[in-house]
Amino acid sequence: MRMVFTGILSLIAGAGLVGCGSETTADGEGGVAGKTDYITIGTGGVTGVYYPVGGNLAALLNADTAEHGIQASVESTGGSVYNINAVLSGDLDFGICQADRQYQAVKGLKEWESVGAQDKLRAVFSLYTETVTLAGADDAGIKTLADLKGKAVNIGNPGSGTRENALDVLKAAGLDAESDIRSQGIKSSESPKLLQDGRIDAFFFTSGHPAGVFMQVTTNLRKVWLIPIEDVDGLLDSAPYYLKTTIPVAYYPNALNTEDIPSIGMKTTLVTSVDTPEETVYRMVKAVVEGFETIKGMHDALKDLTREDLVDGHSAPFHPGAERYFKEAGLL
Ligand code: GLU
Repeated sequence: MRMVFTGILSLIAGAGLVGCGSETTADGEGGVAGKTDYITIGTGGVTGVYYPVGGNLAALLNADTAEHGIQASVESTGGSVYNINAVLSGDLDFGICQADRQYQAVKGLKEWESVGAQDKLRAVFSLYTETVTLAGADDAGIKTLADLKGKAVNIGNPGSGTRENALDVLKAAGLDAESDIRSQGIKSSESPKLLQDGRIDAFFFTSGHPAGVFMQVTTNLRKVWLIPIEDVDGLLDSAPYYLKTTIPVAYYPNALNTEDIPSIGMKTTLVTSVDTPEETVYRMVKAVVEGFETIKGMHDALKDLTREDLVDGHSAPFHPGAERYFKEAGLL
């Protein structure tokens, strides 16, 4: 149960510190005397990992609000694609997103095919590796990807990063999302209840682990397997951002699995727009690098993070504020 408490505590830590900074600040390096610069970080569903981790980032930054004048808060959103678009439109200052979605936005692929390459997107840092995760109900006979045929499957809401990963994996398994399964496009926080109520048999969610979504769905009456995502080598070869990952079974003691679950995944990254002030981004990166040991202890998904991971896995150019700090810290 340790993971459950870690997750809840980090949420409380994030929520506690977000919104309790002072209204006025000293004339710090980045702040304007007497003014607070309120910024928002786009995350994901409240039972995912982006949301608590976004709270952790905000808490680290807000610990020094008096010095730099920046006060961060988090917003629960539809996920990676929403966050990238909101950062580009100026509705969010920072957004957490999957590395594959960062790549696609920069190259004008998938959701960005009709609008073209998003050349205002900028990389800030990478965090943990997240995993394309598929949960399936035992009583629906789902133990492999092929067993999804004919079943009701939530492939993720439009705006999520998850959705395209689900489509990729289904295709690699020879399944058509339109004709072979009954696809739903509902947000991740709804999935556990829908599955437990028998309205879906399985769902995809690309996330770090442990995630509240999978704790919820495995700790209930309808028994659940986390389904291995294997034999998708074609996907790994064709896409530079996918990598092999495993889900530690220890995080979900009530899942039916007894061994770690192989899958594929990608880096989780933080992005911003070229229009975000250099000092704001510099301060965000500085807060994370200087608070590195603290952040590693804030969520189990972050516990294996190395400083080198921060600069890895980006397709967008670094924001000048990130580049400045990483160079000073000898990481670039
Ligand atoms: N990767 C997911 C998405 O963009 C969100 C994961 C999370 O909230 O932890 O759809």
